[in-house]
Amino acid sequence: MTADSLDTLLGQSDQPLILFDRVGTVAYVNRAFEVLSGGTAAHARAADGPLLEPPILVARALDRTWTVPTGRVWLRRADRTRRQVWVDALPMSVGGEMMHLCTVRPTTLEVETPAGGLDDARLRELLANLPGGVYRCSYDRHWRTVFMSERFADICGCPSAEFLEPYGRSFKEIVVEEDVPVIQDAVREAIRQRSYYEIHFRIRRPDGEIRWLLDRGMPVADRKGRVRWLDGAMFDITAQKEAEARAEAAELERAAAQAASAAKSRFLAVMSHEMRTPLNAIVGMTTVLADSALEAEQRSLVDTVRSSTDALLDVINDVLDFSKVDMDQLELIDDDFDLRACIDGSMQLLRPRAEAKGLAFSMRIADAVPGWVRGDAARLRQVLVNLLSNAVKFTSAGEVRCTAEARRSGQTAELEIAVSDTGIGIPAERQVDIFEPFSQVDISSTRRYEGSGLGLAIARGLVARMDGSIDLESAPGCGSIFRVRLTLPIGEAPRTEPATPGADALPPLRILLAEDNIINQRVGLGLLDLIGQTADVVADGVEALDALRRASYDLVLMDVRMPELDGLEATRRLRAMLSPEQQPRVVAVTANATREDEAACYAAGMDAFLSKPLRVDALKSTLARLFGDDRDPPARDAETRTAIAG
Ligand code: ADP
Repeated sequence: MTADSLDTLLGQSDQPLILFDRVGTVAYVNRAFEVLSGGTAAHARAADGPLLEPPILVARALDRTWTVPTGRVWLRRADRTRRQVWVDALPMSVGGEMMHLCTVRPTTLEVETPAGGLDDARLRELLANLPGGVYRCSYDRHWRTVFMSERFADICGCPSAEFLEPYGRSFKEIVVEEDVPVIQDAVREAIRQRSYYEIHFRIRRPDGEIRWLLDRGMPVADRKGRVRWLDGAMFDITAQKEAEARAEAAELERAAAQAASAAKSRFLAVMSHEMRTPLNAIVGMTTVLADSALEAEQRSLVDTVRSSTDALLDVINDVLDFSKVDMDQLELIDDDFDLRACIDGSMQLLRPRAEAKGLAFSMRIADAVPGWVRGDAARLRQVLVNLLSNAVKFTSAGEVRCTAEARRSGQTAELEIAVSDTGIGIPAERQVDIFEPFSQVDISSTRRYEGSGLGLAIARGLVARMDGSIDLESAPGCGSIFRVRLTLPIGEAPRTEPATPGADALPPLRILLAEDNIINQRVGLGLLDLIGQTADVVADGVEALDALRRASYDLVLMDVRMPELDGLEATRRLRAMLSPEQQPRVVAVTANATREDEAACYAAGMDAFLSKPLRVDALKSTLARLFGDDRDPPARDAETRTAIAG
């Protein structure tokens, strides 16, 4: 059939008609179509882009499936505006060739893209400028690509045309194999939920490079509700994924470092416990020994043992403190305390040592420094004692001085407490790392100064926990100044100072000593004897409960780790077993000296906590607190801990 005979047949119809050949090229349009489209058949053929959009409706569906597609599409008019039309296509044989005759009806909804709107060129430009690639693919086994914006060239490393007809390469081919099911599952789920999908998956580009893509899209159904296409956009998120992987690796590294540090700290805590137990016997026995009648030479030997055990205990306490600071396990107390007394008390502790070396030892507290502040007095004193003892240790002539200044703002005070000396000073290149654990300026085998190298690391950790800082100004031969800066809330002075009852005035107490280690039993009895007390002794928790059933006691000195029944469980049971008037005070005496151990003792119902090695002054002040004044509540406060720590 020729064009003329076609025209005779169809030309006069009011119904706009187009005839497509089998590959989707316009073979003929009638006059009604020319009116509708505003152009001739020649224009329709020469149009730089499909006449109907999306073209799949006519080109692919007709060609491949031979069904009669119907649908709402856009007609591109000669003036580049668009009009929505309804197309029905009918396959027919024209002159022996399979063609498609389409009726084209404007929809009732007459939506026209206004001039200047999104014509093809602009749409392409827009798509090219989008940060991701836009696609439509058919929902079938092959993921045939219907449309793919040019941007995919950047993402996939090959022209997007490769995925379109006539090449028709499947996008699936470049998806990393194990990620294919990820996509399939997400799409199926989106269809089930009538929703969107959002998938992260990898593609392998022709150059072998792996890229991560983010794909956001949605299933699109035809009129009958069958899902036919997937429309969406893909973005290259490789950089983001790489950053995430780097952050994850850094996090793993950090966690591993933390675990290593925790293991190290646990080791230190266990070691310090193991050392405390025998040290308890040494300290206790030497205390008892020193109290007996001794020859001058024997006394001097005992004194040497005592000062050496004191030094050893300092190191053990440092190690334990450092392990707590290092593990961030240190809990600070938040209580009102007398700041001036805290500074003064630290000075008094070091004064004898400074005077013995012939150093001037002075203190100046500015008027602006508040009396009472809120914070952890014991820990601040620990920091100051540390700085002062270093100052005294590393100064052979001149002076050690402590000054405190403050600036108040509202209810807080910004404090600066400085400890200065005229000692050996610290070279500039060592001023940072002396705050690191186990670091000392003089590490020669002939070094003159003792110490663990932990003091400043602990001080820095403590001050950091108080949200403060320590800095240092020093030069070799010119002395050093350590400045502690802290901001503390202003506190309140208590109305009356609680009177500390005299320990010597204690009445004879009925005391039960529960301790499995025979040497430590003797230490306990010896120390009690020094303060004028005696005790019955039992070797474990079961025996302690038996003794409490038989007789009534004022006090139980309870070792925590014991065979049969440990001190915690024994305390819980005796609290449940005895009537209120029979209840003794229970004091833990243990080599487990961490804050958690202490908390566990209080939780079990104990009244106070003493760490081994047991010292006569700590024992004395705890008993004075518990029994010196009956109106005093059981001592579970900060001061008990301070007494124990000392
Ligand atoms: P330790 O005093 O137990 O060695 P520290 O952590 O307290 O440990 O101090 C670390 C090191 O810093 C000391 O060994 C010493 O070399 C140096 N240092 C600290 N304070 C002073 C000071 N006031 N003058 C000179 N050197 C000091």
